[in-house]
Amino acid sequence: MIPVTKPYFPSREKLNKYIDGIYERQWLTNNGELVQELTRRLESYLGVENLLLVSNGTLALQIAYRALGLCESTEHRPEAITTPFTFIATASSLKWEGIEPVFADIDPHTWCLDPANIEAAITPNTKAIVPVHVFGNACNVKAIHAIAQKHNLKVIYDAAHAFGVKYKGESLLKHGDAATLSFHATKLFHTGEGGAIIFKRKEDLERAKKMINFGMSGPESIEELGINAKMNELQAAMGLCVLDEIEENLAAREKVWHRYEQALASSLQLQARPDALDYNYAYFPTVFESEEQSMCVADTLKENGVLARRYFYPSLDSMGFLESKQEQPISKDIASRILCLPIYFGLSTKEVDGISEKVMEGI
Ligand SMILES: *Cc1c(COP(=O)(O)O)cnc(C)c1O
Repeated sequence: MIPVTKPYFPSREKLNKYIDGIYERQWLTNNGELVQELTRRLESYLGVENLLLVSNGTLALQIAYRALGLCESTEHRPEAITTPFTFIATASSLKWEGIEPVFADIDPHTWCLDPANIEAAITPNTKAIVPVHVFGNACNVKAIHAIAQKHNLKVIYDAAHAFGVKYKGESLLKHGDAATLSFHATKLFHTGEGGAIIFKRKEDLERAKKMINFGMSGPESIEELGINAKMNELQAAMGLCVLDEIEENLAAREKVWHRYEQALASSLQLQARPDALDYNYAYFPTVFESEEQSMCVADTLKENGVLARRYFYPSLDSMGFLESKQEQPISKDIASRILCLPIYFGLSTKEVDGISEKVMEGI
C-alpha cells in the first residue's frame, strides 16, 4: 500500500551519535543540551526569534492561548474565531481550554479563513483569532492583523503545516502574537512527537517557559499555574537529525509536487497561493467536481494499492461537541470534494505517474 505520507527516517548512524551523547551526559529531559541546540538551530533555520520547543503541536496551541492570556477569568466564556477547515486539534484545543471556538468560513480558493467573514463573527466575548495556514498556504496576514488591531484581539496562527514557508521573503511564522508548529512524525519536519511556539514578544516566551514546566521558575519557586509540556532529549536528537537532512527532504517533495501538478493541474482544482509565497510542498491536496467523483477516485486508488486521504473532512462546524452555531457552506463544500494525494520523501516518479494516471481515469 502507498500511504498518503510516511515519516522521514534520518541517518541511523547520526542518531546513534546523539544518543551516545545523551548516555554520556546522563541527561534525558528538563531543557537539556540537545533541546537547547535544536532551539538555536531552528531559530536560525527558520529565521525567527523567541522559539519554544514543546512536547506536541496541540500543547503548543494550548500554551500559546494561556501565555497570551485568553483563559484569564472573565465573567463570560471567552471566544476565539477560527476556521472549520483544519485538523480537529485547532478547535478542540480551544474548547479544552474553556475557550469557545466560533467558526468563520474560508475563502473558496485559498481554503484559509476569509477575513471578510471574521468581523461578522466578533462579539463582546471575542478574545482572539486562530487562523490556520492550511496545507502551508499563507492566510491573508495583513487583513487579519488589521482586524485584530481594530478590535484589540490576539492572533495565534496554527502553522502546523507551514514549517519553512516564507512569505514576501520572510518566515510566515513571524506573523501573529504567536505561531505554533507541530513536529508529529507525519509532518514535514518532525521529532517523533513534538511542537514549537514562536512568540512575537520575549515576555510571552518567558511566561510560556514557566508554564511548560509546572509554573516553576526555580527548584523551590512555583510562580503560577502550569503544566508539563516539555520536549525531551530523545525527541530533540531525532529533530537535529531530521533538520540535517531537510534540504534533501524538501527537494524530493518539491519534485513529486511538480510531477503531480504537470499531470493534474489542468483538470483539477488546486489550492490558490499568493505569488509572494515560498512553499514547502508538504501536501498535495486537490478538489474534484463533486463528492461522488472524489469518492470514486479514492476507491479506484485504493483498489490499486494507493491511500489518498480526505483532509480535512468533515468540516468542523459539523462536529456536535464543538457546538457550532452556524453552518459554514464553503468549508463543507471543499471538505466534501477534497483528497490529499501521497507525498513523501522516497515516493518515486514512477509511483507518482501511476497515481496521476488512476486519478485521470476517474474524472
Ligand atoms: C498535526 C496538527 C496539529 C496537532 O499537532 P500534534 O503535534 O499532532 O499535536 C494541530 N493543527 C494542525 C492543523 C495539524 O495538522
